[in-house]
Amino acid sequence: MHELIPTREIYWNISGILWMYILLLIAIAISGWKFYRRYKLWKLGQPDTRLDQIGLRMKLVMQNAVAQGRVLKKQYPGIMHLLIYTGFIILFIGTVLIFIQVDITKPLFSLRFLESTFYLIYSLTLDIFGVLAIIGIFMAAYRRLFLRRPNLKNKRDDAIILTTFFIILVQGYVIEGLRIAVTRPPWAGWSPFGLLVADVLTSLGWPDATMRTVHIYMWWSHLVIALAFLVYIPYSKLFHIFTSPLNIFFQSLEPAGALKKMELEELDHFGASEINHFSWKQLLDLDACTICGRCSDVCPATTTQKPLSPMKVILDLKDYLYSRGPELLHGTNSEPASSENEVKMVGGAVLDEELWGCTTCRACQQACPVFIEHIPTIVEMRRHLVLEESRFPTELTTTFKNLENNGNPWGISPEDREKWVEGLEVPRMREAKGEVDYLFWVGCAGAYDTRHQKVSRDMVKILNAAGVNYAILGKEETCNGDPARRAGNEYLFQILVEQNVETLNRYKFKKILTTCPHCFNTLFNEYRQFGGNFDVIHHAVMLNELINDGKIGLKKALSRTVTYHDSCYLGRHNHIYDPPRQVISAIQGITLREMPRHRENGFCCGAGGGRMWMEEKHPKVNHNRIAEAAELNPDVVISACPFCATMLSDAINETQRQENLENLDISALVLEAMDIP
Ligand code: SF4
Ligand code: SF4
Repeated sequence: MHELIPTREIYWNISGILWMYILLLIAIAISGWKFYRRYKLWKLGQPDTRLDQIGLRMKLVMQNAVAQGRVLKKQYPGIMHLLIYTGFIILFIGTVLIFIQVDITKPLFSLRFLESTFYLIYSLTLDIFGVLAIIGIFMAAYRRLFLRRPNLKNKRDDAIILTTFFIILVQGYVIEGLRIAVTRPPWAGWSPFGLLVADVLTSLGWPDATMRTVHIYMWWSHLVIALAFLVYIPYSKLFHIFTSPLNIFFQSLEPAGALKKMELEELDHFGASEINHFSWKQLLDLDACTICGRCSDVCPATTTQKPLSPMKVILDLKDYLYSRGPELLHGTNSEPASSENEVKMVGGAVLDEELWGCTTCRACQQACPVFIEHIPTIVEMRRHLVLEESRFPTELTTTFKNLENNGNPWGISPEDREKWVEGLEVPRMREAKGEVDYLFWVGCAGAYDTRHQKVSRDMVKILNAAGVNYAILGKEETCNGDPARRAGNEYLFQILVEQNVETLNRYKFKKILTTCPHCFNTLFNEYRQFGGNFDVIHHAVMLNELINDGKIGLKKALSRTVTYHDSCYLGRHNHIYDPPRQVISAIQGITLREMPRHRENGFCCGAGGGRMWMEEKHPKVNHNRIAEAAELNPDVVISACPFCATMLSDAINETQRQENLENLDISALVLEAMDIP
């Protein structure tokens, strides 16, 4: 019978067993206490319900914690992490099984489950996964020492974790090797790496007694180091082995593009000026960060050397939570920092310019392997700056005033909202009889921005040609509120929403059609927070439907090489990637070349999150994007968003590429291919 080699002698005697369990209990108690302290800190946060759809949450944990779904999206670090993670889990389970058999089932019930074929497979599995974990550790060390990435800092914590885990693993093989060298069991081949170590040790020519003594000392030092490692876990970034699965489980299942509604009437503070103004989930986020740097790698602000790095924001808030949390817990100083000696959270731990650098593009959240939600945290601090401190970039003063007084960010008279329709046949909702199929939400850019007025006019021509039943609100429309909300002015946002919801609820229509992803996102995902439940369609999707239904014919071939720029609010916020590409592919003669950063990895144009209305220093985000597009030598960069169009066109002009490159909305290509006047 193949049986686990009795390890009773290792304990020396009964007091040895006692000591082992005393040490184990001390380690668990220290770790548990630290864990409890962290839990208490998370509980400082505001309530947030995250216990709906348990089945889906479990599935997400299986996909992204157990199967490491997002971690594996990056090949080298993904494989590296998988090797260390699976090695750690398998060896932990293997060790627990040994203890259960040696100290519980065998002495109490004479039950040995680690025997026969199962024991052989068990030995082989542990042996293999131990070596895989060592390979993972070498990969991690190589990456940190030689593949230096700007957003991956070499920390003492990483050195301690990797070295300690490496020592534990090597000790495990030496212990196994000594045991095999002394006992030479016939099934030793099922521990191939242990057998290899045994052969090396045998070649040293030590007597059995020496090997047995070394074995005992090695076993105890192995145990002490492993327990010390257990105690170190909650003090280190390795704490994420507990917090990451929790964070994945409690992730938001709300629409990706929706920000949380502020209950303005009920709150005694607006936004977050103190760490306990965040929700408990936002505080858990801080402890879940694995410091992998993936968020900052893809952030347009970090990429263009702006002060914002999403990873730094999370880590700075975490430090702030640790320093400020105990005071708040014990009620010794519960007022937000006010004196010059106290570090404030907003404007201290996190600087204003970091917060205003965010375009809310969601690239960070898409990249984060543990589903940390950066945007709500950044916007919550912006809300504090705007609503409580009136501290924001001066350019936004004009934008907010224009939105408040004229219902559009440019401050143009609401009376001029219908000027773009001159010379076209465009039905108005106020004149429509009965229900219309589509309420064409033109948006501020579509109504006022000369560049995007063309898109509105092109869409009208396409809709008329396709015989679509639609109408516009015209002068009754006002800004959907997206720039105000993303810039932290929730109060102004809610005024605009209430006005629009009231207008929209007056009319009967099946769907709202928009040409702007920001209008689409806000109307579809956020208006329902205010009683506006609307079905909304973006024009790229509608064009695709019209083509597929044969309502519009694309007769003319266009000999053009194009690339498509994914709008963040169409793509990452609303997962619309295929329809615009299908429209482009439906046009004869067009060659589509994809930029390296496309679909969910698309790079922002720099305009979202209210950034459209703020000054930007060089190097600019839109210049970075257009340089990437130009690498492909296309004639056209196609977009499906007025903000993207502005940023891309500006970048083309500012980088003197207008001779060879132009920006067009997707509707312009469709209209050209339809070959109608
Ligand atoms: S949302 Fe975009 S701009 Fe903002 S922190 Fe994340 S990646 Fe950076
Ligand atoms: S926030 Fe997420 S992506 Fe960024 S460093 Fe932390 S774990 Fe990595």
